[in-house]
Amino acid sequence: MKYIGIDLGGTNLKGVAIDRKGDILYKKNIQSRTEEGPEVVIRNIIELIQNITRTVKGDNKTIAIGIAAAGVVDIENGICTWLPNLPGWKDIALVQIIEEKIGTPAYLINDVRAMTLAEKTVGAGQGIKNLVCIAIGTGIGGGIILHDQLYFGDEGFAGEIGHQVINFNGPKCTCGNYGCLEAYASGAHIILEAIRMVKQGATTIIRDLADNDLNKITPKIVALAARKGDEIAKEIWENESFYLGVGLANLVHILNPEMIIVGGGIAEGSDILIDGIRTAVCERLHLGACTDHLQIVQCKLGDIAGAVGAALWSKYSINKVINRRKR
Ligand SMILES: [Zn+2]
Repeated sequence: MKYIGIDLGGTNLKGVAIDRKGDILYKKNIQSRTEEGPEVVIRNIIELIQNITRTVKGDNKTIAIGIAAAGVVDIENGICTWLPNLPGWKDIALVQIIEEKIGTPAYLINDVRAMTLAEKTVGAGQGIKNLVCIAIGTGIGGGIILHDQLYFGDEGFAGEIGHQVINFNGPKCTCGNYGCLEAYASGAHIILEAIRMVKQGATTIIRDLADNDLNKITPKIVALAARKGDEIAKEIWENESFYLGVGLANLVHILNPEMIIVGGGIAEGSDILIDGIRTAVCERLHLGACTDHLQIVQCKLGDIAGAVGAALWSKYSINKVINRRKR
């Protein structure tokens, strides 16, 4: 038997099939073509699921399908309430559409909650009871595991780490609030800072690495420049670690997790973030609480974590339904 997981992102659709233990049987990555609107994207999702079903054969019946989406989702009703990076994605009953087309139970989850579940189950957080996952991409997302369980809160949005306010007089965030962590430390902010420094005429190799085209600057390029010893790029990453550390120290005070897992689209640069984050967190904790016990680590599953987590979520959700029927 197998479970299929789909990660619906702004650029790519990632699909995996996993077995009962969570081992990956197959993975495939296609473009999501979000600019063509929800109908095209949904058609692509269905084709990807059918493709995976056909390819992974044998006694591999698909038990359930999980979909991880980047944004606000209604888990109970399987509705994508709002996916800010996907044009036209408001109040779309994705689960119903997929179940009708494919005929297999489907379940929806936020992409970073899915990543958190994957890292906890088969990634860096195995065996850890209480952990926090932070994903830094275009925005900043998060997920919380408490007592081995994914924590959703009352309405399902627990873990929106990026929208905690770290400066109430700060700049406007994409959410409309002011001074959120996301406004200081997202991947988009790294790019803006790099562009600002280049435009100011700072001595930096970032411009050369981006082929003299400011539109080509990515967090990956800024990380590359920092590794080559570029002082401006190093400063951008130092600030990044500092702001992340400020936000994560808040979480440590509230949740006292054993582990913080750092991942997301800029995860390739996250090795240069870990030490700086630890310093900033520890400077802010009372009683030196973080020195011995708190682990701050890089994610293990990379860009496939969301899809694997979606598949695990479908397994978890359908087992809950089956157990309920048994009772
Ligand atoms: Zn915000």
